[in-house]
Amino acid sequence: MIIAVDGPTASGKGTIAKALAAHFRLPHLDTGLLYRAVGRQCQLDGGDPNDPVAALAACSFPESLLADPELRSEEAGGLASQVSVHPTVRRALYERQRSFALQPGGAVLDGRDIGTVIAPEADIKLFVTASVEARALRRFLEMQAHGRAVSLKDVATDLAARDDRDLSRKEAPLAVAEDAIVLDTSELDRDEAIAAAIAVAGKRR
Ligand code: C5P
Repeated sequence: MIIAVDGPTASGKGTIAKALAAHFRLPHLDTGLLYRAVGRQCQLDGGDPNDPVAALAACSFPESLLADPELRSEEAGGLASQVSVHPTVRRALYERQRSFALQPGGAVLDGRDIGTVIAPEADIKLFVTASVEARALRRFLEMQAHGRAVSLKDVATDLAARDDRDLSRKEAPLAVAEDAIVLDTSELDRDEAIAAAIAVAGKRR
């Protein structure tokens, strides 16, 4: 069984994907981490993430980079969003995601284009979303808890810029797959969102 979980930044899709993977005992791939690794590698190489040649070269990042806690930073998220615009980068990461999805027994993948491009045949497609305000507030509180001095306004501006890039890029933009179930988590806390996703997935299954 393949479960595709797509959605914008800070919608709760990562948490939901992990919970679904644990519930259905399936392996999970956070595909955003791959784009973050490319962005970070590009930075380490001194390249410009907006340059398709530099970004493509960074696709051969070492596996050990995936364990770097720096990848979870806002900066790495911003770099990921820049390198993910290049079709050559998306193509370079395609096979890895595709074979993860097709492994025997199935898998859960979360990202932006799982249900539309990586695994259009997925058995369950969830599109997890939430209002910009709810997502910005979540991200803001998360960053505050980690001792980061940020303003809610800056977080919201950064999030809107990333949404914009993800929605407007030519190749594989963030989009709701035709047969996806939309789950709006604006009014839900973590446990409620997980419960709703498991209920929806269980029904679809
Ligand atoms: O999900 P996460 O915030 O880690 O993703 C970081 C960035 O990587 C996103 O803003 C998006 O631009 C890009 N991404 C993508 N396709 C995916 C996963 C992530 O373009 N499947």
